[in-house]
Amino acid sequence: PAKTMDELVSLCKRRGFIFQGSEIYGGMQGAYDYGPLGVELKNNIKAAWWRSMVYERDDVEGLDAAIIQNKHVYKYSGHEDTFTDPMVDCHECKSRLRADHMKDIKVCDNCGSTNVTEPRDFNLMFKTNVGPMVDEESYTYLRPETAQGIFTNFKNVVDSTSRTLPFGIAQIGKSFRNEITPRNFIFRVREFEQMELEFFCKPGEDEKWHDFWVNTRKQWWLDQGLTEENIQFEYVTGDDLSHYSKSTVDILYKFPHGFEELEGVANRTDYDLGSHTKAQDEFDITAKVKKNEHSTTKLAMRDLEANKWDVPFCIEPSAGLDRGLLAIITEAYTEEELPNGTSRTVLKLKPHLAPIKVAIMPLKKNKPEIVALAKELKNKLQKLGLGRILYENTGNVGKGYRRHDEVGTPICVTVDFDSIEQEGAPVTVRDRDTMEQIVVPAADLPAYVVNYFIN
Ligand code: ATP
Repeated sequence: PAKTMDELVSLCKRRGFIFQGSEIYGGMQGAYDYGPLGVELKNNIKAAWWRSMVYERDDVEGLDAAIIQNKHVYKYSGHEDTFTDPMVDCHECKSRLRADHMKDIKVCDNCGSTNVTEPRDFNLMFKTNVGPMVDEESYTYLRPETAQGIFTNFKNVVDSTSRTLPFGIAQIGKSFRNEITPRNFIFRVREFEQMELEFFCKPGEDEKWHDFWVNTRKQWWLDQGLTEENIQFEYVTGDDLSHYSKSTVDILYKFPHGFEELEGVANRTDYDLGSHTKAQDEFDITAKVKKNEHSTTKLAMRDLEANKWDVPFCIEPSAGLDRGLLAIITEAYTEEELPNGTSRTVLKLKPHLAPIKVAIMPLKKNKPEIVALAKELKNKLQKLGLGRILYENTGNVGKGYRRHDEVGTPICVTVDFDSIEQEGAPVTVRDRDTMEQIVVPAADLPAYVVNYFIN
């Protein structure tokens, strides 16, 4: 794994994974742009999450709700009142700091001074105006989590799919938080993506499902290449527990800057649906909720045995995509000493996450038959639907191998004179991890590649 953030930042910029946002204007703190390979890696992580959370299960539906929502959503969700971080000002260096790790000893992160103010609450939501009239009432917020769109669509999903408990709704999308001190590359940013599941169950079954999701999510991260020794659980207790949560388990990963939260798995009880439902008095809502005077819809399910309507409990595994990507490249980053005394950097990504699946390189860039075969193979492999297949005509295979090791391309295929002269059109297939090269007839290449990526 990577030892420092700097080596990742440098690789990400050099190879086109991640760039500083608004760089040509001096940058925008807490915002990053994903480049040609970053967007592929991100899409592959999202696809893997969606596959395991939606396609491979029969009890989860997908959703893509709007980022801009009615301001009442945030009034009743509790965000308007409580989505804050404690902040202090440093009298010495005039910076503002997030104070939640400061506990009793208050020292400025920036200059080390203890001359800081008492902490005060700072709301992390970005406020914005909607419509052409700017007045007291025309505001709303950019969503600070995707979850609320799931709760507000609860009845729409139930009615359109005829779901019964237990079932979940999964969503991937952007969230925005005006973090006081964005830092550690893409670890803490102001615009990021989340992959969230809200899993609804009967009260009383919540603890069982909570355990289930903690373990299922950990296994998923292991399947993405993270290793057991770099993952820890943190059982959130006391003051650190969100007001809505009965219990939360954070899944931590050993980032270059230390063990930090990658995903939170919370038992949110009936807080969310209970907060957003109409006619709260008709239900036995266990959570402490604000009286709702605006909702038009009852968010409850009928318990057929007891013949009464209940507000379901909800378990939420909430993962950060950007943090996930950072964890995955941290783990995959490998500096290897080679037997011949040289070294190489390899990104040992799981094949399903690799931004480029196969690179096809003609040995000679101006030999028409070689170029034609290479292009034909590129088109054939592209049609398999495995992801990006790159035809790369630089004429320098050695350099190509180096670059593709660094960006994690599992397979490089070279087309050379043998390929056009010998029977069966043999091409050379090189493996990223073992660096072994084998010869495969061109006609067998699609089957070889499918077998490699599917099995
Ligand atoms: P932290 O304590 O690190 O601020 P959090 O507990 O506020 O995180 P949650 O509200 O539980 O985070 O959000 C769920 C997930 O969303 C987090 O586990 C993380 O992966 C991701 N996330 C939250 N805030 C950010 C951010 N500012 N930048 C990148 N990812 C974030």
